Amino acid sequence: MRGNLKYISSLVHRTPKSKNTKPLLKADLHTHPYINDVASLDHTLSVLHKNNISILANVVHGSGNQKEFDFWHVKELLKDSMRGYEIEDLDTVVNIYNFGFKIVITGGYEDYCEVEGVKGRLDIVVISSEKGFKKHMHKENRFQEKIKIARDYGGIVVSAHPYALWDPYGPMGFFKFRLASPEERKIIRQVVFQQVNCVDIVATNVAWMVISNDLVREEYPYSPLCSSNAHSINRTIRNEIGKSGCIFPDFDFSSGVEFREKLRDHIKDGNFETYLKYLGPLKFIRSIALSKPSDALA
Ligand SMILES: [Zn+2]
Repeated sequence: MRGNLKYISSLVHRTPKSKNTKPLLKADLHTHPYINDVASLDHTLSVLHKNNISILANVVHGSGNQKEFDFWHVKELLKDSMRGYEIEDLDTVVNIYNFGFKIVITGGYEDYCEVEGVKGRLDIVVISSEKGFKKHMHKENRFQEKIKIARDYGGIVVSAHPYALWDPYGPMGFFKFRLASPEERKIIRQVVFQQVNCVDIVATNVAWMVISNDLVREEYPYSPLCSSNAHSINRTIRNEIGKSGCIFPDFDFSSGVEFREKLRDHIKDGNFETYLKYLGPLKFIRSIALSKPSDALA
């Protein structure tokens, strides 16, 4: 019996094989590695290596903080770490060559915004924006203005788990999140879906995220990205980076801008596959219970 369950579980969780015979790039574009020193940097890179992840967006909440260094800070740490990392600095992207395949790291910022008619807050992740974008975090929370700033800085704009809203007065109590109502989902479809580069479905916050993800799959007219959204406040959770993600066809680039625009095109064209493995409830509870209120964004 147990063997059967294990077999079924391996079927559910396996990574889909692509018909494409070219090399493929596995990417986790919405995850929180919580890199804040050399040890957490080393561990993140070893997890990327182990989980065969070629592209990491190092997403921080707001503009980052002492627990979560943003991309620019991580890049300095990489250069200063004295660990002999073989890196290529392409401004908004850094390539790392120590692990047998190229690992590409870029930045990401997650913040909330408000949309008229939606009582809860929507999370937006901005990937690979030009330096200086973070100055504008926290200043503007209206959706239209927020994505205009993100576009000004070249970022790829993702509406994160768009039907799971942060709402301190919502019925989910402790978790402060809830599902968007049918009326709110209609507004999100009309106002948000057409203006972002993509939406994502994520592996965390299992209580409502399974239903939310299913609704997004049904109602988003394009292909949603898939990400771990792991909040790596400890090493156990950091191991989840890349256990959900996207698989892109291999592509060359010689600058950060070229990387971003090719990635944006693949996203726009739906030229990727996804795989999803929900974070176990215990790991999820630990990650939430040990978070400070300022980490409330998912
Ligand atoms: Zn997140």
